Amino acid sequence: MSVDALRVDVAIVGGGLVGASLALALEPTGLRVALIEGVAPEAAVQPSFDDRTTALGNGTRRVFEALGVWSAIAPAAAPIRHIHVSDAGRYGFARLEAAEHGIDAFGYVVTNRVLGAALQQRLSALTALELRRPARCSAVTLGPDVVRLETTPTAPPLQARLVVAADGANSLVRSAAGLPAEIEDYQQVAVVAHVAAARAASGIAYERFTPDGPFAVLPLHNGHYGVVWTLTPQAAEHVMALPDAEYLAALQRAFGWRIGRLERVGQRSAYPLKLTRASVVTGSRVALIGNAAQALHPVAGQGFNLGLRDAATLAEVLAERCRQDAAVDVGSDAVLAEFAARRSSDRDGVTRLTDGLVKLFGDTRPGVPLLRDLGLLLFDLSPSAKQAMSRLSWGFSGQIPRLARGLPLPGVKSA
Ligand SMILES: Cc1cc2nc3c(=O)[nH]c(=O)nc-3n(C[C@H](O)[C@H](O)[C@H](O)COP(=O)(O)OP(=O)(O)OC[C@H]3O[C@@H](n4cnc5c(N)ncnc54)[C@H](O)[C@@H]3O)c2cc1C
Repeated sequence: MSVDALRVDVAIVGGGLVGASLALALEPTGLRVALIEGVAPEAAVQPSFDDRTTALGNGTRRVFEALGVWSAIAPAAAPIRHIHVSDAGRYGFARLEAAEHGIDAFGYVVTNRVLGAALQQRLSALTALELRRPARCSAVTLGPDVVRLETTPTAPPLQARLVVAADGANSLVRSAAGLPAEIEDYQQVAVVAHVAAARAASGIAYERFTPDGPFAVLPLHNGHYGVVWTLTPQAAEHVMALPDAEYLAALQRAFGWRIGRLERVGQRSAYPLKLTRASVVTGSRVALIGNAAQALHPVAGQGFNLGLRDAATLAEVLAERCRQDAAVDVGSDAVLAEFAARRSSDRDGVTRLTDGLVKLFGDTRPGVPLLRDLGLLLFDLSPSAKQAMSRLSWGFSGQIPRLARGLPLPGVKSA
């Protein structure tokens, strides 16, 4: 017996950081929206809301303010007011000061669990949202006018005009839509942990480049540090297995004494790093956002910020079209082409920047480290290069979405 499908305008597959944000952004548009997320928000294994820390740019803070979640995040957010970049074992370094660029901070460091909790709290309050969680999208059937989605555990299937893939780097929706993705394995693993040191964190983020990969030491609101240590897979396996005292000693050797003696470490987690990039971000009645569109190396902390701009832009395009024509087909080729065009330069720019940094600082060919030192010193002396870098906090290039500029969606009153 076939079960009647539940009809919606937009079905979002994946309620991680990016998919959950899109569901909130679409709420004031009046569109009928479904969100399907495979893992319960409080589950220890929730892949998006885990113990990682995320550096949020100023544009992201604006989006979160507009979505009504920033007030829940702010008390646990540590501002980055100074950035110190160095090349391990060499003399090249650069410093950036937020005050010199007329901004309070380059961004804010928050743990993913705090972000997840704030988003979930707001989502639970959306009465019109068809929220299926925990439920997995198990099959996607593309049709000319609608897309049919099966979800497990069994519930009525969904029929959507537009399906948004926010289901991460190994996106089921992307595969079902036949959209190819290039995958490049960096042969690096990020070992992530929270560390307490003799000197409490006070607004300085350290980015240090080593031949094995970059590592970041980020300030946390409780005075501790979020450490993202990128290593070769073999070295990461070794570091993951070390007792705490030996891990701290190894980290101290690699990072030095800038924050004093490293005293304690919390639980460590390991993330193999790949660049996964879909060749196009739209297909028939399908839009890709966040890691489903591009999953980047964490160097420079851009992946989520970029993914959130995907979500904010898609919400803006849909709101504009609905305002022009209440009966618009939100999954039509014209709507999707507009979304893809608006995302193109930001997406390409940030992807090239992060990939380029990983490769430049991993290059040990004769002469390259010296050129890098020179480059860093020149950067340190160039106010315009630093100004360009500080603008990354809003987006790389192209049209910055309204929500990231602190403006409401078209046709929607500000909160
Ligand atoms: C070590 C590390 C540090 C990072 N630091 C930063 C940083 O400082 N700043 C920054 O901007 N970015 C950072 N990033 C990147 C950032 O974590 C990602 O860009 C972000 O998590 C992407 O979110 P997402 O919602 O697109 O995807 P994901 O986080 O992968 O979420 C996908 C969601 O979809 C769900 N899902 C998958 N398949 C299905 C299905 N079939 N049905 C239902 N649900 C499904 C999953 O359960 C999950 O919740 C970092 C990444 C790493 C690895």
